[in-house]
Amino acid sequence: MAGSVLLPKPCLMRLPHYYRRLLQAMHEGQSIISSDELGEEAGVPAAQARKDLSYLGEFGRPGVGYDVYELAAHLERILGLNEPKKAILIGVGNLGRALASYPGFARYHLQIVAAFDIDPSKIGQRIGSIRVLPLEELETFVHQNDVRMAILAVPAAQAQSIADRLAAAGIHLIWNFAPVSLRVPTGVMVFNEDLAARLATLSFFLIRQSS
Ligand code: NAD
Repeated sequence: MAGSVLLPKPCLMRLPHYYRRLLQAMHEGQSIISSDELGEEAGVPAAQARKDLSYLGEFGRPGVGYDVYELAAHLERILGLNEPKKAILIGVGNLGRALASYPGFARYHLQIVAAFDIDPSKIGQRIGSIRVLPLEELETFVHQNDVRMAILAVPAAQAQSIADRLAAAGIHLIWNFAPVSLRVPTGVMVFNEDLAARLATLSFFLIRQSS
């Protein structure tokens, strides 16, 4: 479904923000929501929110707003949020362990089905229901379990060699937490979560504000 709707990338990046606002509205028992409220969540004017949502079809009534449940259900279909997604985790250190323990992924139907590490003291451990397997079993596991997504939480120096192995094993999407730009073959997507880079940006604003 997600692939059948062509969306400009900035619009696509804002959809999760709209969705999060819709979840909040549901939680608060709100059944109608305005483009002002949606835009505010995504940091854009109401007109931009309306334009974004117009890409998805005929939603909302002028002067009334959007039906919270209808729009949320549609975003779930577009973003594939209700489709089960399997991922493996590579690197079970401080960050990997936190990601493996995070209950919020279940809301998006993401299941970490196994974790891999090279540290013999970690292999065989369980984080909840997730088993830590030796890295040698990576390729076999990916093939046997038809996994397409990997979460990379290894030290930066190890990240490229692991990405090479993941791509060769058939992984299509790497969610990369290591602060390094990965080179991957065509057909493999990388999404970076670079907290250090974000911190550098925060630092810039913080320093400017206090000077
Ligand atoms: P960590 O040292 O605690 O854990 C790294 C884990 O990766 C260890 O368990 C180690 O045995 C394993 N490992 C090392 N080489 C491996 C390989 N080739 N294959 C499989 N496993 C391997 O590090 P961390 O703090 O969890 O950080 C992990 C990555 O995430 C780093 O690149 C770090 O820069 C990045 N990061 C960490 C944080 C954080 O808050 N800890 C935040 C943002 C980004």
